[in-house]
Amino acid sequence: MVSAHSLKTAAERLRARQQSGILCERTARDKALSRLEQAIQTAESDILNALSRDFRKPQFESYSTEIAFIRSEIRQTQKHLKRWMRPQRAATPLFLKPASSRVEFEPWGAVLIMSPWNYPFQLALAPLISAIAAGNTVLLKPSELAPHTATVVESVIAAAFPDGEVETATGGPEVAQELLDQQWDHIFFTGSTRVGKLVYQAAAKHLTPVVLELGGKSPCVVAADADLKTTARRIVWGKCVNAGQTCIAPDYILVDNQIKDKLCTALAAEITRAYGPAPLESEDYASLISDEHYKRLERLLADGDIFCGGACDAANRRIEPTILLDPSLQSSVMQEEIFGPILPVIGFDHIGEAEQLIARNPNPLALYYFSRDRKAASRFLKRVPSGGAALNDTVMHVGNAALPFGGRGTSGIGQYHGQWGFETFSHKKGVFSQSLLIDPPLRYAPYSARQLSVIRKVLG
Ligand code: NAD
Repeated sequence: MVSAHSLKTAAERLRARQQSGILCERTARDKALSRLEQAIQTAESDILNALSRDFRKPQFESYSTEIAFIRSEIRQTQKHLKRWMRPQRAATPLFLKPASSRVEFEPWGAVLIMSPWNYPFQLALAPLISAIAAGNTVLLKPSELAPHTATVVESVIAAAFPDGEVETATGGPEVAQELLDQQWDHIFFTGSTRVGKLVYQAAAKHLTPVVLELGGKSPCVVAADADLKTTARRIVWGKCVNAGQTCIAPDYILVDNQIKDKLCTALAAEITRAYGPAPLESEDYASLISDEHYKRLERLLADGDIFCGGACDAANRRIEPTILLDPSLQSSVMQEEIFGPILPVIGFDHIGEAEQLIARNPNPLALYYFSRDRKAASRFLKRVPSGGAALNDTVMHVGNAALPFGGRGTSGIGQYHGQWGFETFSHKKGVFSQSLLIDPPLRYAPYSARQLSVIRKVLG
Protein backbone atom coordinates (compact mmCIF):
# COMPACT_ATOMS: atom_id res chain seq x y z
CA MET A 1 0.00 0.00 0.00
CA VAL A 2 1.24 3.45 -0.88
CA SER A 3 1.15 6.10 1.87
CA ALA A 4 -0.22 9.59 1.12
CA HIS A 5 3.31 10.98 1.05
CA SER A 6 4.79 8.36 -1.26
CA LEU A 7 1.72 8.53 -3.53
CA LYS A 8 3.02 11.87 -4.83
CA THR A 9 6.30 10.30 -5.94
CA ALA A 10 4.93 6.93 -7.09
CA ALA A 11 5.71 7.33 -10.80
CA GLU A 12 9.25 8.50 -10.15
CA ARG A 13 9.94 5.70 -7.68
CA LEU A 14 8.50 2.97 -9.89
CA ARG A 15 10.36 4.30 -12.94
CA ALA A 16 13.66 4.25 -11.07
CA ARG A 17 13.03 0.63 -10.03
CA GLN A 18 12.10 -0.35 -13.58
CA GLN A 19 15.25 1.29 -14.91
CA SER A 20 17.32 -0.60 -12.34
CA GLY A 21 16.46 -3.68 -14.41
CA ILE A 22 14.41 -5.72 -11.90
CA LEU A 23 12.10 -7.09 -14.57
CA CYS A 24 14.52 -7.01 -17.45
CA GLU A 25 15.09 -10.76 -17.75
CA ARG A 26 12.40 -13.24 -18.68
CA THR A 27 13.18 -15.34 -15.61
CA ALA A 28 12.47 -12.35 -13.32
CA ARG A 29 9.10 -11.77 -15.02
CA ASP A 30 8.29 -15.46 -14.88
CA LYS A 31 9.11 -15.62 -11.16
CA ALA A 32 7.01 -12.52 -10.47
CA LEU A 33 4.05 -14.19 -12.20
CA SER A 34 4.58 -17.41 -10.22
CA ARG A 35 4.56 -15.41 -6.98
CA LEU A 36 1.31 -13.78 -8.09
CA GLU A 37 -0.24 -17.17 -8.86
CA GLN A 38 0.87 -18.45 -5.43
CA ALA A 39 -0.53 -15.39 -3.62
CA ILE A 40 -3.87 -15.83 -5.40
CA GLN A 41 -4.01 -19.49 -4.45
CA THR A 42 -3.32 -18.65 -0.80
CA ALA A 43 -5.96 -15.89 -0.78
CA GLU A 44 -8.62 -17.80 -2.71
CA SER A 45 -11.22 -17.95 0.05
CA ASP A 46 -10.58 -14.28 0.98
CA ILE A 47 -11.17 -13.30 -2.64
CA LEU A 48 -14.44 -15.26 -2.80
CA ASN A 49 -15.60 -13.76 0.51
CA ALA A 50 -14.73 -10.23 -0.56
CA LEU A 51 -16.69 -10.55 -3.81
CA SER A 52 -19.64 -11.92 -1.86
CA ARG A 53 -19.49 -9.03 0.62
CA ASP A 54 -19.17 -6.40 -2.10
CA PHE A 55 -22.18 -7.50 -4.15
CA ARG A 56 -23.18 -11.03 -3.21
CA LYS A 57 -21.47 -12.38 -6.27
CA PRO A 58 -22.29 -16.12 -6.49
CA GLN A 59 -19.30 -18.35 -5.77
CA PHE A 60 -19.46 -20.09 -9.16
CA GLU A 61 -19.29 -16.74 -10.97
CA SER A 62 -16.57 -15.43 -8.66
CA TYR A 63 -14.44 -18.47 -9.27
CA SER A 64 -14.99 -18.77 -13.02
CA THR A 65 -15.01 -15.11 -14.10
CA GLU A 66 -12.44 -13.74 -11.67
CA ILE A 67 -10.06 -16.33 -10.19
CA ALA A 68 -9.96 -19.02 -12.92
CA PHE A 69 -9.82 -16.32 -15.60
CA ILE A 70 -6.72 -14.80 -14.01
CA ARG A 71 -5.06 -18.16 -13.39
CA SER A 72 -5.55 -19.09 -17.01
CA GLU A 73 -4.11 -15.75 -18.16
CA ILE A 74 -1.02 -16.30 -15.96
CA ARG A 75 -0.56 -19.85 -17.32
CA GLN A 76 -0.90 -18.75 -20.94
CA THR A 77 1.53 -15.89 -20.39
CA GLN A 78 4.17 -18.04 -18.73
CA LYS A 79 3.82 -20.69 -21.42
CA HIS A 80 4.37 -18.29 -24.31
CA LEU A 81 6.45 -15.47 -22.82
CA LYS A 82 9.76 -16.66 -24.25
CA ARG A 83 8.33 -16.59 -27.77
CA TRP A 84 6.57 -13.26 -27.29
CA MET A 85 9.78 -11.60 -26.01
CA ARG A 86 11.87 -12.88 -28.88
CA PRO A 87 12.75 -10.06 -31.31
CA GLN A 88 10.79 -10.45 -34.53
CA ARG A 89 12.80 -10.53 -37.75
CA ALA A 90 11.72 -7.94 -40.28
CA ALA A 91 12.50 -7.92 -43.99
CA THR A 92 15.32 -5.69 -45.26
CA PRO A 93 15.06 -4.36 -48.83
CA LEU A 94 17.87 -5.14 -51.24
CA PHE A 95 19.22 -1.58 -51.37
CA LEU A 96 19.86 -1.66 -47.59
CA LYS A 97 21.65 -5.01 -47.60
CA PRO A 98 23.71 -6.51 -46.07
CA ALA A 99 21.96 -4.98 -43.03
CA SER A 100 19.39 -6.97 -41.06
CA SER A 101 16.25 -5.69 -39.32
CA ARG A 102 14.23 -6.70 -36.29
CA VAL A 103 11.50 -5.52 -33.96
CA GLU A 104 12.31 -5.57 -30.25
CA PHE A 105 9.73 -5.39 -27.46
CA GLU A 106 10.78 -2.79 -24.95
CA PRO A 107 8.91 -2.17 -21.68
CA TRP A 108 7.30 1.27 -21.42
CA GLY A 109 8.69 1.77 -17.89
CA ALA A 110 6.40 2.69 -14.99
CA VAL A 111 2.72 2.13 -15.81
CA LEU A 112 -0.49 3.16 -14.10
CA ILE A 113 -3.43 0.72 -14.13
CA MET A 114 -6.85 1.91 -12.95
CA SER A 115 -9.71 -0.57 -12.71
CA PRO A 116 -13.51 -0.55 -12.20
CA TRP A 117 -15.73 -2.30 -9.64
CA ASN A 118 -17.73 -4.71 -11.80
CA TYR A 119 -15.15 -7.53 -12.08
CA PRO A 120 -13.00 -5.99 -9.39
CA PHE A 121 -10.44 -8.79 -9.13
CA GLN A 122 -10.14 -9.83 -12.77
CA LEU A 123 -10.02 -6.34 -14.26
CA ALA A 124 -7.33 -5.23 -11.81
CA LEU A 125 -5.10 -8.25 -12.34
CA ALA A 126 -5.49 -9.12 -16.05
CA PRO A 127 -3.74 -5.96 -17.29
CA LEU A 128 -1.21 -6.33 -14.47
CA ILE A 129 -0.18 -9.76 -15.81
CA SER A 130 0.47 -8.31 -19.28
CA ALA A 131 2.34 -5.34 -17.80
CA ILE A 132 4.66 -7.58 -15.74
CA ALA A 133 5.16 -9.94 -18.69
CA ALA A 134 6.36 -6.97 -20.73
CA GLY A 135 8.79 -5.91 -17.97
CA ASN A 136 7.07 -2.82 -16.52
CA THR A 137 6.72 -1.78 -12.92
CA VAL A 138 3.14 -0.97 -11.96
CA LEU A 139 0.98 1.22 -9.77
CA LEU A 140 -2.44 -0.41 -9.53
CA LYS A 141 -5.50 1.53 -8.38
CA PRO A 142 -8.53 -0.72 -7.85
CA SER A 143 -12.05 0.68 -7.59
CA GLU A 144 -13.22 2.12 -4.29
CA LEU A 145 -16.76 0.84 -5.01
CA ALA A 146 -15.80 -2.79 -4.30
CA PRO A 147 -13.87 -2.02 -1.09
CA HIS A 148 -13.53 -5.57 0.25
CA THR A 149 -12.08 -6.81 -3.03
CA ALA A 150 -9.78 -3.77 -3.21
CA THR A 151 -8.39 -4.72 0.21
CA VAL A 152 -7.76 -8.32 -0.90
CA VAL A 153 -6.15 -7.14 -4.15
CA GLU A 154 -3.88 -4.96 -2.04
CA SER A 155 -2.83 -7.85 0.18
CA VAL A 156 -2.32 -10.22 -2.78
CA ILE A 157 -0.04 -7.62 -4.40
CA ALA A 158 1.84 -7.03 -1.15
CA ALA A 159 2.39 -10.78 -0.77
CA ALA A 160 3.55 -11.27 -4.37
CA PHE A 161 5.72 -8.26 -5.14
CA PRO A 162 8.37 -6.21 -3.39
CA ASP A 163 7.77 -2.45 -3.12
CA GLY A 164 8.84 -0.70 -6.28
CA GLU A 165 7.85 -3.62 -8.51
CA VAL A 166 4.06 -3.48 -8.14
CA GLU A 167 2.29 -1.22 -5.65
CA THR A 168 -1.37 -0.49 -4.98
CA ALA A 169 -3.12 2.75 -4.09
CA THR A 170 -6.69 2.40 -2.86
CA GLY A 171 -9.20 5.23 -2.91
CA GLY A 172 -11.57 7.11 -5.17
CA PRO A 173 -11.37 9.94 -7.70
CA GLU A 174 -9.08 12.11 -5.50
CA VAL A 175 -6.44 9.38 -5.36
CA ALA A 176 -6.94 8.73 -9.09
CA GLN A 177 -6.43 12.43 -9.79
CA GLU A 178 -3.28 12.55 -7.68
CA LEU A 179 -1.93 9.67 -9.75
CA LEU A 180 -3.01 11.15 -13.08
CA ASP A 181 -1.16 14.38 -12.30
CA GLN A 182 2.11 12.42 -12.43
CA GLN A 183 4.05 11.48 -15.52
CA TRP A 184 3.61 7.79 -16.31
CA ASP A 185 5.14 5.90 -19.22
CA HIS A 186 1.82 4.23 -20.02
CA ILE A 187 -1.71 4.37 -18.59
CA PHE A 188 -4.16 1.47 -18.80
CA PHE A 189 -7.68 2.49 -17.75
CA THR A 190 -10.82 0.37 -17.53
CA GLY A 191 -14.06 2.14 -16.68
CA SER A 192 -16.71 4.51 -17.97
CA THR A 193 -16.45 6.57 -21.14
CA ARG A 194 -16.93 9.72 -19.03
CA VAL A 195 -13.89 9.08 -16.81
CA GLY A 196 -11.98 7.65 -19.80
CA LYS A 197 -12.09 11.12 -21.37
CA LEU A 198 -10.61 12.65 -18.18
CA VAL A 199 -7.83 10.05 -18.21
CA TYR A 200 -7.09 10.79 -21.87
CA GLN A 201 -6.89 14.53 -21.15
CA ALA A 202 -4.53 13.95 -18.20
CA ALA A 203 -2.33 11.64 -20.30
CA ALA A 204 -2.18 14.19 -23.12
CA LYS A 205 -0.36 16.66 -20.85
CA HIS A 206 2.64 14.32 -20.81
CA LEU A 207 1.98 12.66 -24.21
CA THR A 208 1.61 9.38 -22.31
CA PRO A 209 0.30 6.46 -24.40
CA VAL A 210 -2.99 5.05 -23.12
CA VAL A 211 -5.27 2.08 -23.42
CA LEU A 212 -8.87 2.91 -22.57
CA GLU A 213 -11.21 -0.04 -21.99
CA LEU A 214 -14.59 1.68 -21.86
CA GLY A 215 -18.29 0.87 -22.01
CA GLY A 216 -21.39 1.61 -24.06
CA LYS A 217 -24.38 -0.23 -25.47
CA SER A 218 -23.62 -3.66 -26.95
CA PRO A 219 -26.48 -4.74 -29.24
CA CYS A 220 -27.70 -8.27 -29.69
CA VAL A 221 -29.37 -8.98 -33.04
CA VAL A 222 -31.54 -12.06 -33.52
CA ALA A 223 -32.41 -13.12 -37.08
CA ALA A 224 -35.60 -14.99 -37.99
CA ASP A 225 -33.75 -18.30 -38.51
CA ALA A 226 -32.01 -18.30 -35.09
CA ASP A 227 -32.17 -21.40 -32.89
CA LEU A 228 -34.64 -19.98 -30.36
CA LYS A 229 -33.94 -22.14 -27.33
CA THR A 230 -30.14 -21.85 -27.46
CA THR A 231 -30.34 -18.17 -28.36
CA ALA A 232 -32.55 -17.43 -25.35
CA ARG A 233 -30.28 -19.43 -23.07
CA ARG A 234 -27.09 -17.69 -24.18
CA ILE A 235 -28.62 -14.21 -24.11
CA VAL A 236 -30.11 -14.67 -20.63
CA TRP A 237 -26.82 -15.98 -19.28
CA GLY A 238 -24.82 -13.12 -20.84
CA LYS A 239 -27.29 -10.58 -19.48
CA CYS A 240 -27.68 -12.03 -15.98
CA VAL A 241 -24.14 -13.09 -15.13
CA ASN A 242 -22.92 -10.53 -12.55
CA ALA A 243 -26.55 -9.23 -12.60
CA GLY A 244 -25.94 -7.52 -15.92
CA GLN A 245 -22.99 -5.50 -14.58
CA THR A 246 -20.73 -6.63 -17.40
CA CYS A 247 -19.19 -4.24 -19.93
CA ILE A 248 -19.94 -6.69 -22.78
CA ALA A 249 -23.38 -7.83 -21.55
CA PRO A 250 -25.95 -7.73 -24.37
CA ASP A 251 -27.42 -4.29 -23.66
CA TYR A 252 -30.57 -4.58 -25.81
CA ILE A 253 -32.09 -6.99 -28.33
CA LEU A 254 -33.08 -6.24 -31.90
CA VAL A 255 -35.14 -9.14 -33.19
CA ASP A 256 -36.84 -9.95 -36.48
CA ASN A 257 -40.55 -9.22 -35.95
CA GLN A 258 -41.42 -12.69 -37.31
CA ILE A 259 -40.06 -14.31 -34.13
CA LYS A 260 -40.28 -11.46 -31.61
CA ASP A 261 -43.11 -12.98 -29.53
CA LYS A 262 -41.58 -16.43 -29.54
CA LEU A 263 -38.17 -15.08 -28.52
CA CYS A 264 -39.67 -13.11 -25.60
CA THR A 265 -41.49 -16.24 -24.41
CA ALA A 266 -38.28 -18.27 -24.69
CA LEU A 267 -36.30 -15.61 -22.79
CA ALA A 268 -38.87 -15.53 -19.97
CA ALA A 269 -38.87 -19.34 -19.76
CA GLU A 270 -35.07 -19.38 -19.60
CA ILE A 271 -35.01 -16.77 -16.82
CA THR A 272 -37.36 -18.95 -14.75
CA ARG A 273 -35.37 -22.11 -15.53
CA ALA A 274 -32.10 -20.50 -14.48
CA TYR A 275 -33.17 -18.37 -11.50
CA GLY A 276 -36.44 -19.99 -10.41
CA PRO A 277 -39.88 -18.41 -10.03
CA ALA A 278 -38.48 -15.85 -7.55
CA PRO A 279 -35.13 -14.66 -8.96
CA LEU A 280 -34.75 -12.08 -6.16
CA GLU A 281 -34.22 -15.03 -3.81
CA SER A 282 -31.79 -16.86 -6.05
CA GLU A 283 -28.35 -17.65 -4.67
CA ASP A 284 -27.08 -17.68 -8.24
CA TYR A 285 -27.88 -14.04 -8.88
CA ALA A 286 -25.58 -11.19 -7.80
CA SER A 287 -26.72 -7.92 -6.23
CA LEU A 288 -26.21 -4.46 -7.67
CA ILE A 289 -23.11 -2.67 -6.47
CA SER A 290 -24.60 0.42 -4.79
CA ASP A 291 -27.85 2.14 -3.84
CA GLU A 292 -27.17 4.78 -6.45
CA HIS A 293 -26.77 2.17 -9.17
CA TYR A 294 -29.91 0.37 -7.94
CA LYS A 295 -31.99 3.57 -8.05
CA ARG A 296 -30.81 4.44 -11.56
CA LEU A 297 -31.83 0.97 -12.80
CA GLU A 298 -35.16 1.06 -10.97
CA ARG A 299 -36.00 4.28 -12.83
CA LEU A 300 -35.20 2.63 -16.19
CA LEU A 301 -37.96 0.04 -15.58
CA ALA A 302 -40.51 2.73 -16.44
CA ASP A 303 -39.09 3.19 -19.95
CA GLY A 304 -41.02 0.32 -21.62
CA ASP A 305 -43.74 -2.32 -21.13
CA ILE A 306 -42.59 -5.04 -18.76
CA PHE A 307 -42.99 -8.45 -20.42
CA CYS A 308 -41.55 -10.37 -17.45
CA GLY A 309 -39.68 -9.53 -14.26
CA GLY A 310 -39.73 -6.01 -12.84
CA ALA A 311 -39.83 -6.90 -9.12
CA CYS A 312 -37.30 -5.06 -6.94
CA ASP A 313 -35.69 -5.49 -3.53
CA ALA A 314 -34.13 -2.21 -2.43
CA ALA A 315 -32.75 -3.58 0.85
CA ASN A 316 -30.64 -6.16 -0.98
CA ARG A 317 -30.14 -4.00 -4.09
CA ARG A 318 -31.72 -6.52 -6.45
CA ILE A 319 -33.89 -6.19 -9.55
CA GLU A 320 -35.35 -9.23 -11.29
CA PRO A 321 -34.12 -10.03 -14.80
CA THR A 322 -36.60 -7.92 -16.75
CA ILE A 323 -37.65 -7.98 -20.40
CA LEU A 324 -38.78 -4.52 -21.47
CA LEU A 325 -40.80 -4.27 -24.68
CA ASP A 326 -40.49 -1.49 -27.23
CA PRO A 327 -38.99 1.37 -25.21
CA SER A 328 -38.85 4.69 -27.04
CA LEU A 329 -35.52 5.31 -28.73
CA GLN A 330 -35.40 8.63 -26.85
CA SER A 331 -35.83 6.96 -23.44
CA SER A 332 -32.92 6.69 -20.98
CA VAL A 333 -32.88 2.89 -21.28
CA MET A 334 -32.12 3.23 -25.00
CA GLN A 335 -29.73 6.17 -24.58
CA GLU A 336 -27.44 5.16 -21.71
CA GLU A 337 -25.46 2.00 -21.00
CA ILE A 338 -27.86 -0.14 -18.91
CA PHE A 339 -25.25 -2.11 -16.92
CA GLY A 340 -27.91 -4.12 -15.08
CA PRO A 341 -30.47 -6.92 -15.59
CA ILE A 342 -32.90 -4.98 -17.79
CA LEU A 343 -33.21 -6.18 -21.37
CA PRO A 344 -35.09 -4.01 -23.88
CA VAL A 345 -36.46 -5.86 -26.93
CA ILE A 346 -37.23 -4.01 -30.16
CA GLY A 347 -38.49 -5.61 -33.38
CA PHE A 348 -37.37 -4.96 -36.97
CA ASP A 349 -38.76 -5.98 -40.36
CA HIS A 350 -35.51 -5.72 -42.25
CA ILE A 351 -31.89 -6.08 -41.07
CA GLY A 352 -31.16 -2.59 -42.44
CA GLU A 353 -33.43 -1.16 -39.71
CA ALA A 354 -31.38 -2.94 -37.06
CA GLU A 355 -28.20 -1.49 -38.55
CA GLN A 356 -29.67 2.01 -38.44
CA LEU A 357 -30.67 1.58 -34.80
CA ILE A 358 -27.16 0.41 -33.87
CA ALA A 359 -25.66 3.40 -35.71
CA ARG A 360 -27.30 5.67 -33.10
CA ASN A 361 -24.61 4.44 -30.66
CA PRO A 362 -21.82 3.47 -33.06
CA ASN A 363 -18.74 1.34 -32.31
CA PRO A 364 -20.17 -0.80 -29.50
CA LEU A 365 -17.71 -2.71 -27.33
CA ALA A 366 -19.36 -6.01 -28.33
CA LEU A 367 -21.77 -7.00 -31.07
CA TYR A 368 -23.86 -10.18 -31.02
CA TYR A 369 -25.63 -11.82 -33.92
CA PHE A 370 -27.74 -14.97 -33.72
CA SER A 371 -28.52 -16.82 -36.96
CA ARG A 372 -27.95 -20.17 -38.64
CA ASP A 373 -26.86 -18.36 -41.80
CA ARG A 374 -23.08 -17.88 -41.62
CA LYS A 375 -22.97 -15.79 -44.80
CA ALA A 376 -25.62 -13.37 -43.51
CA ALA A 377 -23.69 -13.15 -40.24
CA SER A 378 -20.44 -12.28 -42.06
CA ARG A 379 -22.21 -9.66 -44.14
CA PHE A 380 -23.68 -8.14 -40.98
CA LEU A 381 -20.31 -8.05 -39.17
CA LYS A 382 -18.70 -6.34 -42.16
CA ARG A 383 -21.32 -3.59 -42.14
CA VAL A 384 -21.37 -2.89 -38.39
CA PRO A 385 -18.10 -1.80 -36.75
CA SER A 386 -17.57 -2.92 -33.13
CA GLY A 387 -14.79 -3.57 -30.61
CA GLY A 388 -15.35 -7.34 -30.67
CA ALA A 389 -18.13 -9.66 -31.79
CA ALA A 390 -19.62 -13.08 -31.17
CA LEU A 391 -21.83 -15.13 -33.44
CA ASN A 392 -24.47 -17.31 -31.78
CA ASP A 393 -23.15 -16.49 -28.32
CA THR A 394 -22.68 -13.64 -25.87
CA VAL A 395 -19.76 -12.60 -23.64
CA MET A 396 -17.70 -15.79 -24.17
CA HIS A 397 -15.30 -14.19 -26.65
CA VAL A 398 -13.63 -12.48 -23.69
CA GLY A 399 -12.50 -15.93 -22.51
CA ASN A 400 -10.28 -16.57 -25.53
CA ALA A 401 -6.90 -14.97 -24.81
CA ALA A 402 -5.90 -15.46 -28.44
CA LEU A 403 -8.42 -12.76 -29.39
CA PRO A 404 -7.66 -9.07 -28.87
CA PHE A 405 -10.08 -7.53 -26.37
CA GLY A 406 -10.93 -3.84 -26.58
CA GLY A 407 -13.24 -1.22 -27.99
CA ARG A 408 -13.19 1.39 -30.73
CA GLY A 409 -14.40 4.97 -30.73
CA THR A 410 -16.29 5.71 -27.52
CA SER A 411 -15.96 2.08 -26.37
CA GLY A 412 -12.20 2.37 -26.11
CA ILE A 413 -8.70 2.57 -27.52
CA GLY A 414 -6.30 -0.40 -27.68
CA GLN A 415 -6.52 -4.09 -26.85
CA TYR A 416 -5.17 -6.65 -24.39
CA HIS A 417 -5.26 -10.32 -23.25
CA GLY A 418 -2.57 -12.86 -24.10
CA GLN A 419 0.00 -11.73 -26.64
CA TRP A 420 -2.10 -8.64 -27.43
CA GLY A 421 -1.63 -7.52 -23.82
CA PHE A 422 2.10 -8.18 -23.93
CA GLU A 423 2.36 -6.04 -27.07
CA THR A 424 0.18 -3.29 -25.58
CA PHE A 425 2.56 -2.96 -22.64
CA SER A 426 5.64 -2.95 -24.91
CA HIS A 427 7.06 -0.29 -27.14
CA LYS A 428 7.80 -1.88 -30.51
CA LYS A 429 11.29 -0.75 -31.31
CA GLY A 430 12.49 -1.09 -34.89
CA VAL A 431 16.19 -1.99 -34.91
CA PHE A 432 18.30 -1.77 -38.04
CA SER A 433 21.67 -3.50 -37.83
CA GLN A 434 24.21 -2.61 -40.51
CA SER A 435 27.21 -4.67 -41.50
CA LEU A 436 30.75 -3.31 -41.30
CA LEU A 437 31.98 -5.56 -44.09
CA ILE A 438 31.22 -3.14 -46.89
CA ASP A 439 30.24 0.50 -47.08
CA PRO A 440 29.05 1.43 -50.59
CA PRO A 441 29.81 5.15 -51.20
CA LEU A 442 26.51 5.74 -53.05
CA ARG A 443 24.71 7.71 -50.30
CA TYR A 444 27.59 9.93 -49.26
CA ALA A 445 28.25 13.56 -50.33
CA PRO A 446 29.57 15.12 -52.43
CA TYR A 447 26.75 13.88 -54.69
CA SER A 448 27.51 13.25 -58.36
CA ALA A 449 25.19 12.96 -61.35
CA ARG A 450 26.09 9.27 -61.52
CA GLN A 451 24.97 8.71 -57.92
CA LEU A 452 21.64 10.37 -58.75
CA SER A 453 21.11 8.20 -61.78
CA VAL A 454 21.91 5.02 -59.81
CA ILE A 455 19.46 6.07 -57.10
CA ARG A 456 16.79 6.68 -59.75
CA LYS A 457 17.32 3.17 -61.06
CA VAL A 458 17.38 1.50 -57.61
CA LEU A 459 14.56 3.39 -55.86
CA GLY A 460 12.49 4.38 -58.86
P1 NAD B 1 -15.63 4.54 -13.48
O1 NAD B 1 -15.16 5.19 -14.72
O2 NAD B 1 -16.57 5.28 -12.60
O3 NAD B 1 -14.38 4.15 -12.53
C1 NAD B 1 -13.25 3.47 -13.02
C2 NAD B 1 -12.02 3.94 -12.24
O4 NAD B 1 -11.87 5.33 -12.39
C3 NAD B 1 -12.10 3.67 -10.75
O5 NAD B 1 -10.85 3.20 -10.30
C4 NAD B 1 -12.44 5.02 -10.16
O6 NAD B 1 -11.91 5.22 -8.87
C5 NAD B 1 -11.77 5.98 -11.12
N1 NAD B 1 -12.45 7.27 -11.19
C6 NAD B 1 -13.77 7.55 -10.95
N2 NAD B 1 -14.01 8.87 -11.12
C7 NAD B 1 -12.83 9.44 -11.47
C8 NAD B 1 -12.42 10.77 -11.78
N3 NAD B 1 -13.31 11.78 -11.75
N4 NAD B 1 -11.14 10.98 -12.11
C9 NAD B 1 -10.25 9.97 -12.16
N5 NAD B 1 -10.58 8.69 -11.86
C10 NAD B 1 -11.83 8.42 -11.51
O7 NAD B 1 -16.23 3.15 -13.92
P2 NAD B 1 -17.01 2.08 -13.04
O8 NAD B 1 -18.33 2.62 -12.64
O9 NAD B 1 -16.12 1.56 -11.97
O10 NAD B 1 -17.20 0.87 -14.09
C11 NAD B 1 -18.30 0.79 -14.95
C12 NAD B 1 -17.91 1.22 -16.35
O11 NAD B 1 -16.75 0.56 -16.79
C13 NAD B 1 -18.99 0.83 -17.37
O12 NAD B 1 -19.16 1.89 -18.29
C14 NAD B 1 -18.41 -0.38 -18.06
O13 NAD B 1 -18.89 -0.61 -19.36
C15 NAD B 1 -16.96 -0.05 -18.06
N6 NAD B 1 -16.17 -1.27 -18.15
C16 NAD B 1 -15.45 -1.50 -19.28
C17 NAD B 1 -14.74 -2.68 -19.40
C18 NAD B 1 -13.94 -3.01 -20.63
O14 NAD B 1 -13.17 -3.95 -20.58
N7 NAD B 1 -14.08 -2.27 -21.72
C19 NAD B 1 -14.75 -3.60 -18.35
C20 NAD B 1 -15.49 -3.30 -17.22
C21 NAD B 1 -16.19 -2.14 -17.12
